[in-house]
Amino acid sequence: MWIGVVSLFPDMFDALTQQGVVGRAVEKQRIALEFWNPRDYATDRHRSVDDRPYGGGPGMLMKVDTLRAAIFAARERAQQATGLVPTVIYLSPQGRKLDQQGVQALASAGPLVVVAGRYEGIDERVVESDIDEEWSIGDYVLSGGELPAMVLIDAAARLIPGVLGHQDSAVEDSFNDGLLDCPHYTRPEIIDGRQVPDVLLSGNHAAIKRWRLKQSLGRTWQRRPDLLEGRPLDAEQRKLLNE
Ligand code: SAM
Repeated sequence: MWIGVVSLFPDMFDALTQQGVVGRAVEKQRIALEFWNPRDYATDRHRSVDDRPYGGGPGMLMKVDTLRAAIFAARERAQQATGLVPTVIYLSPQGRKLDQQGVQALASAGPLVVVAGRYEGIDERVVESDIDEEWSIGDYVLSGGELPAMVLIDAAARLIPGVLGHQDSAVEDSFNDGLLDCPHYTRPEIIDGRQVPDVLLSGNHAAIKRWRLKQSLGRTWQRRPDLLEGRPLDAEQRKLLNE
């Protein structure tokens, strides 16, 4: 997967790319991450990357020429590196809310150019002409699009074949099949008098599988009933839920 990032703070991404799952994916070349900083395209003495909003008011916007130059360069490089036209994404609190389905779509969408906004955001005409999709990571406002971009990249990277080892496979994770994950236990067998459920010690793989599915269904029902709406349960799941 090829991802180009347009950001005024590319160093922030070191936290993502130099360790953990995404770090390994970059090292194994399952993901190629490249960066474009609008500041590199600034030509004035102060290398400015912000500009005042028409109509006045507090706050600045990202300067149009430097931002567009960075987006165009990233788009061109994506085509050169992959032979495909990238999807250009702007992280914005006003975008479609990111969920696992959205992440799955983005992970298989081909190359991405991810634009991290700063200040009060970007000129609406840039959104209209240069951005294909706007995505939000939730109904709250952060100071910049770098953390949202990292959230998107991390979530998408986990779904790329070969990125996760078998032991941390994404297949069993919450939301993958529309349900929350089951509870997990490790050693010791007893913590403060609380025992690991017997079935997990039984070695009976069919019983363990049934127990896990039942826990997933029960948790989803209790904590996130919205996930079950419009999701028909199969016969086994209905039976388990009613047991
Ligand atoms: N004035 C904008 C608004 O109210 O919609 C908020 C601008 S915010 C301070 C600066 C940048 O942070 C945005 O351009 C966007 O890239 C990013 N950002 C902030 N919150 C976000 C969220 N919930 N999801 C995705 N990006 C976000």
